Amino acid sequence: MNKLLPTSTAGSLPKPVWLAQPETLWSPWKLQGDELIEGKQDALRVTLSDQQQAGIDIVSDGEQTRQHFVTTFIEHLDGVDFEKRETVRIRNRYDASVPSVVGAVSRPKSVFIEDAKFLRGLTDQPIKWALPGPMTMIDTLYDGHYKSREKLAWEFAKILNQEAKELEATGVDIIQFDEPAFNVFFDEVNDWGIAALERAVEGLNCQTAVHICYGYGIKANTDWKKTLGAEWRQYEEIFPKLQKSSLDLISLECQHSRVPMDLIELLRGKKVMVGAIDVATDTIETPEEVADVLRKALQFVDADKLYPCTNCGMAPLSRTVASGKLAALSAGAKIVRRELSA
Ligand SMILES: [Zn+2]
Repeated sequence: MNKLLPTSTAGSLPKPVWLAQPETLWSPWKLQGDELIEGKQDALRVTLSDQQQAGIDIVSDGEQTRQHFVTTFIEHLDGVDFEKRETVRIRNRYDASVPSVVGAVSRPKSVFIEDAKFLRGLTDQPIKWALPGPMTMIDTLYDGHYKSREKLAWEFAKILNQEAKELEATGVDIIQFDEPAFNVFFDEVNDWGIAALERAVEGLNCQTAVHICYGYGIKANTDWKKTLGAEWRQYEEIFPKLQKSSLDLISLECQHSRVPMDLIELLRGKKVMVGAIDVATDTIETPEEVADVLRKALQFVDADKLYPCTNCGMAPLSRTVASGKLAALSAGAKIVRRELSA
């Protein structure tokens, strides 16, 4: 990117009402068969157009073709039985009934490649594509086969690497791995989590990113946030090792979060996607509020490495609110860009 402060979103955006029930996670599709395929492609056109209208610089698929950022990828793999469900504690936070790993995991065919080709055909803008990270994937499953979180993460990293290489070949510019689990399991992150992520990006020539957030604005997450105290210092545990990792970009939650901004200093040298849009509220930020977060971040990240972004995905929000927030992000970045060039 030659433009200073290129804007993007962390990942998901609301789906059109004719494709899936709005403002709901894991919302079932409203179409089937060929109609669903066509509907998903139309949704990709709409989400791209929404981002372009708002002036977003690095566009994405808005995760229009997936029901969920983790499970949709896993559904395409062998070795996981979605009928055989067990209750596990997700991110140490809430219990959920999840599928079981019943044998060796593998990726019999590409997952998102056709979608990525389709989006690439619609625009010359840089594209960022999100995949789940290995640690977040294992945290969403019951493992009855490997009996080792590390071993399973390593197998997923190899599979993610296959998918990432194919995504790169379609012309995707940035591949992002979503690792909200990095904010919870610090010892594992430092022991093998970052190493597994590096295995997932091995041999890639495109830019690579990791997104670490405090989650969607759902109740389990907002309740958890209330227990974290006045200062959220989770990032402090993992930034030193991430700074030394081979990942190019680190995507963070900064708007309305209690993360002390100076923790970004620990990433010095990396490109930082600074979340300047709160996804846990319907209130649309003013451009000045966005600019304020970016100005604070600029104390700890060089201007050519600052990427204004959203705190997390916006799938659970209404389309009107999400569009307003995209426009605010764009306008806020513009204010700071103007200040930097003055
Ligand atoms: Zn997130």
